[in-house]
Amino acid sequence: MPRPTGSRQITKNCGQYSWSSERLHSKIKPEPGCYQWLGSANINGNLFLAYKNDRAYNANANRLIWMDTYGEDIRDYRVAMSCQNKYCCNVDHMTLEPNYRRYKGDGKSPCRNPIYDKD
Ligand SMILES: [Zn+2]
Repeated sequence: MPRPTGSRQITKNCGQYSWSSERLHSKIKPEPGCYQWLGSANINGNLFLAYKNDRAYNANANRLIWMDTYGEDIRDYRVAMSCQNKYCCNVDHMTLEPNYRRYKGDGKSPCRNPIYDKD
């Protein structure tokens, strides 16, 4: 069956987000060390047009890459780059940190177990 024209071609979803995994990966240029992001970006990092709660949303690409790779909802976390290059999109250079902006009341980690220790 051909896809209907105008199909958003959503192939992944996680938490509030859904996106085209193929299109996401088409923007990643693997290189030795840091991967180059071929999509758009702003001062905060790489951007990728996805859907948040079914509405078009310019999402942080690195968050989507993490979710695309691990299938985990990371709404309580921020993606930090161990290489200090925020425009890198190599998932091996990404680590999760608690998103303190959401928890500035007590400054503690979110209530569930950190998922970055998982192997
Ligand atoms: Zn890197």
